[in-house]
Amino acid sequence: MAIALGKTKDNPLLAMRGLPPFSAIHAEDVEPAIDALLAANRAELSGLAKRDDTPSVADVIVPVEQLRHRLARTWSPVSHLNAVMNSDSLRAAYNACLPKLSAYQTEVGQNESLYRAYTAISDDPALTPAQRALVDDALRDFRLAGVALEPERKARFKTLMQELARLQARFEENVLDAASAWSLLIQDESRLRGLPAHVTKRAQAEAAERGERGWLLTLDFPTYHAIVTHAEDAGLRRELYEAWSTRASDRGPQAGRFDNSEVMREILRVRHEVARMLGFPSFVEYSLANKMAGSAAEVRGFLDDLAARSLPAGRREMRELEDCAGRALEAWDIGYYAEKLRRARYDVSDEQLRPYLPVERVLAGAFAVTGHIYGLRIERRAGVDVWHEDVRLYDVRDARDELRGSFYVDLYARPKKRSGAWMDDCISRARLNGSVELPVAYLCCNFTPPVAGSPALLAHGEVVTLFHELGHTLHHVLTRVDYPSVAGINGVPWDAVELPSQFMEGFAWAPTVLPLISSHYQTGEPLPAGMLERMIAARRFNAGMQMLRQLEFALFDLRLHADYEPGRADQVATVLDDVRKQVSVVPVPEFNRFAHGFTHVFGGAYAAGYYSYKWAEVLAADAFAAFEEAGVLDRQTGQRFLRSILEIGGTRPVMDAFVDFRGRKPTLDALMRQCGLNGG
Ligand code: ZN
Repeated sequence: MAIALGKTKDNPLLAMRGLPPFSAIHAEDVEPAIDALLAANRAELSGLAKRDDTPSVADVIVPVEQLRHRLARTWSPVSHLNAVMNSDSLRAAYNACLPKLSAYQTEVGQNESLYRAYTAISDDPALTPAQRALVDDALRDFRLAGVALEPERKARFKTLMQELARLQARFEENVLDAASAWSLLIQDESRLRGLPAHVTKRAQAEAAERGERGWLLTLDFPTYHAIVTHAEDAGLRRELYEAWSTRASDRGPQAGRFDNSEVMREILRVRHEVARMLGFPSFVEYSLANKMAGSAAEVRGFLDDLAARSLPAGRREMRELEDCAGRALEAWDIGYYAEKLRRARYDVSDEQLRPYLPVERVLAGAFAVTGHIYGLRIERRAGVDVWHEDVRLYDVRDARDELRGSFYVDLYARPKKRSGAWMDDCISRARLNGSVELPVAYLCCNFTPPVAGSPALLAHGEVVTLFHELGHTLHHVLTRVDYPSVAGINGVPWDAVELPSQFMEGFAWAPTVLPLISSHYQTGEPLPAGMLERMIAARRFNAGMQMLRQLEFALFDLRLHADYEPGRADQVATVLDDVRKQVSVVPVPEFNRFAHGFTHVFGGAYAAGYYSYKWAEVLAADAFAAFEEAGVLDRQTGQRFLRSILEIGGTRPVMDAFVDFRGRKPTLDALMRQCGLNGG
């Protein structure tokens, strides 16, 4: 589709063909590019809507998909750079575009002519399954965007959605800024006792970089995690715990400076109003409208059931920790004594394992696994324009040597990069005018960076995270669907999106896979057999407590949105306290402000949907069990998983796809067995 974009033709975001030219993208390009695209899209859409002939896939759906695709692939590098290379100018440009994009999306969703056209097309008996799924999803999304509202209510809805986009972005900014603004300079080396050498070396380098003597501790996840797990100095553990658990709140060392309290109240208020406008009792039902789970009661029952099954183990594990410490424990002691007990019981620690898990070996081994089960060949492409020198691009070829897609890998923690690990969509697969555009993904982590003179050595937990994100990446890249809105992870119900990722984690624990992903970075020796066995045995260590922690997050998110009452100021704290009474077995200090940094939920993506992790984990564990039954690297089972689950995008109900793969519906058994919570 040729659209005149006028004077903006030198804008790198608009001239983009293929991979984004990251080094050429500047903050000042962002708003003009988005303005030009939105104007062009609006003109094109009004042309489509004016037609009064019989609407068809070719005349309406294909052009709408093209407009969507072009906007998505232009916005993707902007929102990605905002997450991984945040700067004041980029943030300002990003924020300037958010309300414009939100307004545009609501307009498309409320476009009655388009809605009528899609409704007419839905009567066509000749639609392919992919077209049928696309049209059904679109009709649902029109309703969720308020297409049926009265005109002035439509306008109000649009304003609310813009406000929500702004508030959610603000929430994430506060969390990022609070973490970036905090650091602790240590000059008494004895305070660092117990810390692994790679942590102290890095802290020393950070201090030197700022012209200071000593060790500078920052508030990135690897540092925080290392301190609360290893530091013998309980005061230091407390200091880091307090800084971390009060990020962006009214408490802690930066109390009030980046406080999210009001932002959270506003987010909840707006979400509730949005849901009520569309006739839903609460935001939970609005959120579930496009998910696998049927109702709020079903989700609540699922979480309560898991909690009841996990509580006895969780309570026992907590008692064992206190026995190990010989005293009652505070929140900042849990990780430290857990590590102590784990080492005593299994004689295995992250630090013993790290030398056997150099990052290149892990990556090569992970790719070898995908070679065994799917017949893939994953190779690095040189000479690609990237956003940071640590970033690489990989191409994915299948068993017939067909290029299926590519993905960027950005592994290490650094300032101005969002915390956590995630996969995001750079380009979706699209075949809309004959030629195919292949999918591209971003795989991002926050691993401990290499320190001078040695390669990055991963903790096994980081290896599991890498497999998780690789699972998302393959789901996005291996799709065979040609319509972007139902290709890859698009159109997959959010509570099933974590199936391919959590499924992939299973391989990082498999005895046949571990030798593929490990060898000593200096001697090349394999992971000693005894260490490997002890490590696998330790997988179930504190599984009850870990399960309860995830259930606490999920129940908090669900109940916060389900039980919302307009006008009450203390709901976040009240619901959190209540949920903790139900499922928490660890003490929580009064100053803890966990919710203020809960970006999964307040940032938007997992709002009234955090339960999705556990929901999908049931499917993932059961799917992985099929591999254990057949031999973990079994190609036939892999091919079946590829065809039934990974390639189909959002074109089939997930339950049908699962039954197709497994021959039956999922059960809880595999997950309970995996966690050792099956009472056996
Ligand atoms: Zn995930």
